[in-house]
Amino acid sequence: MFRPWFNINLPSDPDHNIMISPYNMGAFKNILSIADVPSELSIKTNLNSLFQNHFDHVPKDLLDIDYIYCLNALRSISWGGKIPVGVPCPKCSFSNHTIIDSEQDLKLQGDPTALIKTDLDGNEIIFRSTNLLYHRELLSCKAPEEFLRVSLFNTMYTVNGVPFDHDRTGFDAWYEVLTSEQLGTLSGAVGKIPQYVINIDFLCMNCGHCDPNMKLNNHVAILKLLLQSGHSLANFYTQTSMMVNEHKYRLEDIHNCLPYEFELYVKMLTEYVKKKNEEHEKNNPSK
Ligand SMILES: [Zn+2]
Repeated sequence: MFRPWFNINLPSDPDHNIMISPYNMGAFKNILSIADVPSELSIKTNLNSLFQNHFDHVPKDLLDIDYIYCLNALRSISWGGKIPVGVPCPKCSFSNHTIIDSEQDLKLQGDPTALIKTDLDGNEIIFRSTNLLYHRELLSCKAPEEFLRVSLFNTMYTVNGVPFDHDRTGFDAWYEVLTSEQLGTLSGAVGKIPQYVINIDFLCMNCGHCDPNMKLNNHVAILKLLLQSGHSLANFYTQTSMMVNEHKYRLEDIHNCLPYEFELYVKMLTEYVKKKNEEHEKNNPSK
């Protein structure tokens, strides 16, 4: 089977070149089967198998921003940039359907190659975007104060030139005695760490609430969106079983399809069914 390859460069290391190749529907089914559960293990498994199968090599020490960049590129060459998403209204909770164009709306904030330095009472602390995905606690942390503690622990890179040791007990003891002024300084530095943001021009179809500056900036949520690409395992099974059972497609051929080919088949089939239904109604005017 013909497999196109594309060139990309890592945001944190623009000289690092990677070749990527789109996934087919069989591989996508495997992605969906674990993407539903955003646990540390499923994300790790997902990313590892994606990198092994669709990238020419697995780069060492990938940062968060690199993961998101790579997955967005893979998603774009497989499906195109447009992702349908359900966005709950912050006012009335109604789930609005909207389209995100990940090639346009996913923006990197901050300089991906810069190290973020801050001075804390004469000590130089350097932060950098890190591999937060491997820290399950970030997935479950809700309170903003907790988020700062977890972010600090994971993004501290060096203190006075010495690599931060990531010793939790020592860190917690240090964190507990920080003054609110020191916390403010640290929080300011963490805020400058480069991160991806998806801008959403939000309008609620139910209550009319609008927010042209809505942002999605949780890296785990962005990853999940890029992995699932607006699909669920349940609707994938519904579509494929209909194609196989009622329209004589072979499951093997469906699995070998590239995603944009699959979308074309689904579109053609939907139009065919619609046409048949219309003909049926015309020939059998019952009521
Ligand atoms: Zn609403």
